[in-house]
Amino acid sequence: MSDLEEFRAEVRAWCREHVPPDWRASQTGVGDEEFVRFQKAWFTELHSAGYAVPHWPAEWGGGLPVDKQVVLYQELAAHDAPRLVLAFVGIHHAASTLLVAGTDEQRRRHLPAILDGEIWVQGFSEPEAGSDLAALRTTARRVGDDGDRHYVVSGQKLWASGGMHADWCLLLARTDPDAPKRPGSRKSAGISYFLLDMTTPGVEVRPIRNAMGDSHFCEIFLDDVHIPAGNLIGAENAGWQVAQATLGAERGMTMLELAERLGNAGFRWLVDSAPLDDPIVADRLAAFETELTALRGMCRRIVEHGASGPADASVVKLYYSELLQRLTDCGAEIGGLPAHTVLTKPMSSGWESGSWVLDFIGSWEWTIPGGASEIQRTIIAERGLGLPREPSVA
Ligand SMILES: Cc1cc2nc3c(=O)[nH]c(=O)nc-3n(C[C@H](O)[C@H](O)[C@H](O)COP(=O)(O)OP(=O)(O)OC[C@H]3O[C@@H](n4cnc5c(N)ncnc54)[C@H](O)[C@@H]3O)c2cc1C
Repeated sequence: MSDLEEFRAEVRAWCREHVPPDWRASQTGVGDEEFVRFQKAWFTELHSAGYAVPHWPAEWGGGLPVDKQVVLYQELAAHDAPRLVLAFVGIHHAASTLLVAGTDEQRRRHLPAILDGEIWVQGFSEPEAGSDLAALRTTARRVGDDGDRHYVVSGQKLWASGGMHADWCLLLARTDPDAPKRPGSRKSAGISYFLLDMTTPGVEVRPIRNAMGDSHFCEIFLDDVHIPAGNLIGAENAGWQVAQATLGAERGMTMLELAERLGNAGFRWLVDSAPLDDPIVADRLAAFETELTALRGMCRRIVEHGASGPADASVVKLYYSELLQRLTDCGAEIGGLPAHTVLTKPMSSGWESGSWVLDFIGSWEWTIPGGASEIQRTIIAERGLGLPREPSVA
């Protein structure tokens, strides 16, 4: 048996013993407290087995080669294991940012804490700064001397996923409001990147209820919030460059697991429920199989060898989110009446709720965060293909 086959057998045996068989039923209709308890307990189980942060460097508790990460994600999907939806931002966005731009002290403070269950939220978007993120208006004013240097932050963040459960926030704020006005400067100049303790006085979190009745994202209001200078990540006014590490993880690294989930759970459910003797359906399934193979190959290449071009992560994010839409749409179309009448969404599931119509509605969320499809297409056109830049409205 090859090393990889041995690893697959090990993960399979682990999944058979540890994946809670009834988690969909037991997580349906529960409140936030039970959701958080369940997610943290599941994180601890995965972490004890070495499966929670396989993509981190070995010195911080990861170090699984990419081929084994793929096998792990395939088996977790095939065994319908719950995903780490609560720890997602911590283990991907926060960890990648700390590893690329954090100080040793910041890494030592936060990476082990994430493994102990610290929850993170991303505080980037604002009411008039989503696609145009560089238009953000939250301000951070530096005060104090060397002994007690800190920043006073005021403003509002929007659409912060999981904000009500978060211990820490990845926060972008403007430290030099005049920077964009200087000749030759961009709007992104003068922005800094902070690590914000969500228990700091002046932080107020208000959940937002979406059209499906969920409240997974929030507004975060910041009123004269004091952030110690040691929580600045990267240099002052260089936050835009640091934010690229976060967005790169969101559009690249996270996709390895999501693509395997789509191929080994979503697509398998579709095949299991489809009338395979219908040639039109069979043709569509074959097309999905081809697209999934391409997606999985792209994700793997980007994680294994890094991006080969400035738009690779955008290609992957765009392709994944639009394929997810088409596949769940197909499930809702061919799934018959049950696909439209089973309308329960267990907590702890992402788009893969087990109800095609809910998954199709939920799939639309994926074409928006981390840069909407239109923005990804612009990045691909301008940075990837070198086409003329869009006229700026600023
Ligand atoms: C499920 C979900 C989770 C999210 N989680 C977080 C989070 O945790 N933290 C966080 O900070 N943010 C989060 N967001 C916010 C997300 O990043 C923004 O919604 C996104 O960047 C779009 O910004 P907007 O909503 O302001 O829309 P707008 O920027 O107003 O865009 C509206 C529409 O116009 C299009 N558009 C805008 N500008 C252009 C252009 N130049 N060219 C062509 N088309 C354009 C957009 O593509 C979009 O279709 C989340 C969003 C969703 C849906």
